[in-house]
Amino acid sequence: MTSLLEEFEQVGRDLYAAGLVSSHGGNMSVRQREGLIITSHGSPLGHLAQGDLVEVRPGLEPRVEPSIDLALHQAIYAAAREAEAVVHAHPRHAIALSLVGKEIRPQDLEGQHYLGVVPVVPGGDNVAQALADALRQHRIVVMAGHGSYACGESLWQALQWTSVLEESAEVLWLLQALRHKT
Ligand SMILES: [Zn+2]
Repeated sequence: MTSLLEEFEQVGRDLYAAGLVSSHGGNMSVRQREGLIITSHGSPLGHLAQGDLVEVRPGLEPRVEPSIDLALHQAIYAAAREAEAVVHAHPRHAIALSLVGKEIRPQDLEGQHYLGVVPVVPGGDNVAQALADALRQHRIVVMAGHGSYACGESLWQALQWTSVLEESAEVLWLLQALRHKT
């Protein structure tokens, strides 16, 4: 059985290798009985080590600075009861599409099957609550012009929704290019 650190390391490596995050972009967390374990601020997801994970729970002073998205992750766990893990990435085609529409509608079979419609939530003061609310109904949501937030029963599952979204977004972009040509 893989340890939690191994899961963080392997999923982070895959996110980076697939170009779903830049060298120090994105963040990930896993729910704990009383709080969560999250990647530290500015940690390189492709090269995580034990020191890059921070436990955050009531009464415990975090050892290192948690990701600046901590409040977002906490809001997601509070709203989406079945979420056990959250992955935030910067999938480039999905980000581009988030700047031109209020939702992303996959046209490929896998995207339609796993994701259905992917909401785009505008940034701003209420973004944490808006994202968390959207994740009650959807596996993945995109913050406009920023990136995706996926929740799942494990980091692996949240990675899956993230990579399915980016594949669908790239297909949508290619489709758009083809339609302009014909
Ligand atoms: Zn981000």
